[in-house]
Amino acid sequence: MKKGIYPGSFDPVTYGHIDVIRRSAALVDELIVAVLGNSEKTPLFTVEERKDMLREVTKGLPNVKIESFSGLTVDFARKMNANVLVRGLRAIPDFEYELNMAQTNHIIAPEIETVFLMTSLKYSYLSSTTVKEVANFHADISTFVPPYVEAMMHKKFISNQEVES
Ligand code: ADP
Repeated sequence: MKKGIYPGSFDPVTYGHIDVIRRSAALVDELIVAVLGNSEKTPLFTVEERKDMLREVTKGLPNVKIESFSGLTVDFARKMNANVLVRGLRAIPDFEYELNMAQTNHIIAPEIETVFLMTSLKYSYLSSTTVKEVANFHADISTFVPPYVEAMMHKKFISNQEVES
C-alpha cells in the first residue's frame, strides 16, 4: 500500500495546495495532509482552524486524511507508516530549500521517498503569505482560496481588529 504524507503550514490552505493534494492523492492509496504545529513562523490560524479548513476543502477526496504533528516530519511519517513524502515546487527558491530538506530526510529515513510535484502554472505565484498580505488590505482573495477559507480569513481579520481596537 502506498501511503503518502503532504506536510506544510497551510496557514491557510490555498488553491495551490489543493492542486498538489488532488494530484498526489491520485498517485497513492492514502494521503495524509499533515499540519505542522511547530513551524518558526507565527501562524495566523491555530492548528485546529487549519485542520478544519483542510477537512472542508478536501471532503470530496475520500482517500485524504487530515492530521497535525510537531517535531520532525520523517518521525511523523514513520509513525503513520507513510512511505512517500509529497512536496510542491513553485520556483527556484523552493527548489534550493526542498533539495536540502529531501537530502537530509533521505539520510535520516532512507525508506521514505520524497516526491515533488511541480506547481500548475496558474498557481506558481501563489503562497499563503501572499494571501494573508492581500487579505490584510481587505482585497478580494477569491482567486486564491476557496469560499470557506475566504470566510474564515474575513472572520479572523475582523476578530483581530476587535482585539487591537
Ligand atoms: P506556503 O509556502 O504557501 O506557506 P506551506 O509551508 O504550507 O506553504 O507549504 C507546503 C507545501 O506546499 C510546500 O511543499 C510548498 O512548496 C507547497 N506549495 C505551497 N504553495 C504552492 C503552490 N502554489 N503550488 C504548488 N505547491 C505549493
